[in-house]
Amino acid sequence: MTNKKKRFSLTNQIFFALIAGALTGVILNIVSAGQHIGFINNWLISGLFEIVGKMFISAIRMLVVPLVLTSLICGAAGINDIKKLGRVGGKTLIFYLSTTAIAVTIALIVSYIIDPGIGFQTEIQVAEKIETPVLSIAQTIYSIVPVNPFAAFSEGNMLQVIFFALVFGFSMAALGEKVQNVRTLIEQLNEIVMKMIMVVMATAPFGVFALVANVFAKEGFSAFVPLMKYIICVTVALLIQFSVTYGLALKIFARLSLITFIKKFYSTMLVAFSTASSNATLPVTMETAEKEMGVSNKIASFTLPLGATVNMDGTAIMQGCAVVFISQVYGIDLSLTALLTVVLTATIASIGTAGVPSVGLITLSMVLTQAGLPVEGIALIMGIDRILDMMRTAVNISGDTVVTLIVAKSEGELDESVFNQ
Ligand code: ASP
Repeated sequence: MTNKKKRFSLTNQIFFALIAGALTGVILNIVSAGQHIGFINNWLISGLFEIVGKMFISAIRMLVVPLVLTSLICGAAGINDIKKLGRVGGKTLIFYLSTTAIAVTIALIVSYIIDPGIGFQTEIQVAEKIETPVLSIAQTIYSIVPVNPFAAFSEGNMLQVIFFALVFGFSMAALGEKVQNVRTLIEQLNEIVMKMIMVVMATAPFGVFALVANVFAKEGFSAFVPLMKYIICVTVALLIQFSVTYGLALKIFARLSLITFIKKFYSTMLVAFSTASSNATLPVTMETAEKEMGVSNKIASFTLPLGATVNMDGTAIMQGCAVVFISQVYGIDLSLTALLTVVLTATIASIGTAGVPSVGLITLSMVLTQAGLPVEGIALIMGIDRILDMMRTAVNISGDTVVTLIVAKSEGELDESVFNQ
């Protein structure tokens, strides 16, 4: 009970920190506008807020690889049945891909209703050239197998870490009693990492405050006005994806309530919002899914790291809206085939988007090229992308968790009494 109370109050603290951070940021932005108030800019915004925010993000990121590694090794050893893993993997991927395709479709429909690019004033400044890394599909597939697992750990290459942990876990399970000590050791390491997450989360209100205040102080309001319709487009599509797609998916495939989901998950969404990184939020997402929602470690340790890496519904939504926006600004009409290509490429781009801030903007270049639109259009939305990045990251991790709940339920790996508590 005390534990629950503590947890509840931490959730509220994070929420208030977010609101206070946003207000402080906006006020500082107004106060320091036009004049160079050195103290505010140097000591507060680029000083204290930057330090506290960066330290908080680093502290959670520090736990990502140890957590995925220990947790997934335990999970794989627990599944201990390659057929079951295949089934879980198959279901997870189908749900991940279809929810992303639905997300882009919603984005396109909403965009054609709002018409974000019509009436947008610009002397199209072909600003910075965007570097576009070429993602070859073959390369993405074969590089899942790490040549050097330690390099994979140090780079935080999630797919490679997942691959190594699965093979390790299965091998450990196959050896049984003989390696019981190692198994106990890894289980205990996993406990310790989980504890570390709780320790880091105790500082979350400060971290969230600093991160949000920093963004709002730097962005201000003026940059948003001409892009208001585009921002509304993305926001509305994100809301529809969250409430309708996820609400229905939870109801139909798992008979779970969206309201309970929101109650359990909103503080994790706030962490995603302030860090703008699915990867950085991963330890918190996993802890919430297992401890608060009753998903077994076997499922959560596999589906959530995978989701944080390949499933980005929110990002796909931004890309759908951006395509329509940029096509309208440049006066290029998109054919139905071009729109279908957008659905396909945005779904694939979501797989290639790493769960770190702003990457969605880079993979957007792939979608624009496929749709025959100028990549330079990205420069138009770059300035305000951070806020949208924060919102879409919250949706990205919600999508991962909704699919995790559905898969866990279908495998009998969900403790509903915990979920409904
Ligand atoms: N920031 C997003 C995430 O981490 C990715 C993106 O859309 O840029 O989920």
